[in-house]
Amino acid sequence: MPSEHRYHQILDNVNDAVYTVDLTTKQFTSLNKAGERLTGYAKKELLGKPFTDIIPPELLPLVLKMIRKKIKRDVSTVYEIEIIRKDGSRVPIEISSKISYKDDKPHEILGVARDITERRHIERQREVFVSLITHEIKNPLTAIKMYAQLLIREEADTASGRMGHIRAIQQQISLLNQLMSDFLEVNQLQLGKFQIIKEKFDLDKEIDSIVSSFPKGKHTIVRKGRLKRKVSADKNRIRQVIWNLLSNAVKYSPDADKVVLSVVRRNDSVAVSVVDFGVGLSPSDQKKIFDLFYRTKFSHQSKIRGHGLGLYICQQIVKGHKGKIKVESVEGKGSTFSFTIPLT
Ligand code: ADP
Repeated sequence: MPSEHRYHQILDNVNDAVYTVDLTTKQFTSLNKAGERLTGYAKKELLGKPFTDIIPPELLPLVLKMIRKKIKRDVSTVYEIEIIRKDGSRVPIEISSKISYKDDKPHEILGVARDITERRHIERQREVFVSLITHEIKNPLTAIKMYAQLLIREEADTASGRMGHIRAIQQQISLLNQLMSDFLEVNQLQLGKFQIIKEKFDLDKEIDSIVSSFPKGKHTIVRKGRLKRKVSADKNRIRQVIWNLLSNAVKYSPDADKVVLSVVRRNDSVAVSVVDFGVGLSPSDQKKIFDLFYRTKFSHQSKIRGHGLGLYICQQIVKGHKGKIKVESVEGKGSTFSFTIPLT
């Protein structure tokens, strides 16, 4: 196989766009297949086109400056810009390029461009995540500081008053603790480090144990149905999902006195549902309820505490088992959260 042909074949099979631009005419002189995908132009449309046509006008001065710098110092550079695709949409890219010389004169730009849309998306998510964490941690920390100051200034002059402040500090610390472990979990989920460790266990028995250890309050947990066979799943994680759904059911039905926990066997899966008779959710809230940090307007306005992490974690756990989780609800009447686990 002629080496030139082989070389083109290799270039057409790489994922990054590889191109050359003539420095005198500023036109594209070669482009691989990934370059066609990235720009949306066919090779024959782009060859002969000045590269300045696909750079947003406001970024052009920066790009020209980078090229001048490259020529002056003869170094390869890496920088991020956006280009305008054939359909008019913009795509963020990372460019690494170098100048080639002919007869000692700058002749061509040899460039490699990579689509960084996904990377930008992850970076943005991280920024939002970090700012939300900071925000959520601030409240309990401010409260701890305030109670500690009251203790130092000895404003509570009775032993029981002091004890009250210490208890409040303790409460905020356990809140922080819970927050940190939830954040850690979400972080692992986002990094894809989340592992499902399956074992065979008796689901009915686990549900019995959850119900008997659930904090006793005004709600009775009514149990319906039994699976009567073992499931292959991550026991602790499935416990975590059921516990979370039960806690929410109790938390968001302050005026009710029962929640129903049912287990139904379908053909090749088991469905666990938690029904409450509480505040319910509007259709638009139902769509967003499993999003990270999402809390309804009602939860923000009410004194019910939360961070909008629980249902996101539940959904990831259920997905990790190739199951489905959903909510059905009528505002003011109550909600049913159910999830399935395949029976393999
Ligand atoms: P948290 O309860 O800590 O805010 P979750 O992720 O568990 O976080 O829930 C997200 C939001 O979904 C809650 O803030 C609440 O608005 C809503 N929600 C969850 N469960 C219920 C329920 N059973 N009834 C009504 N709203 C619910």
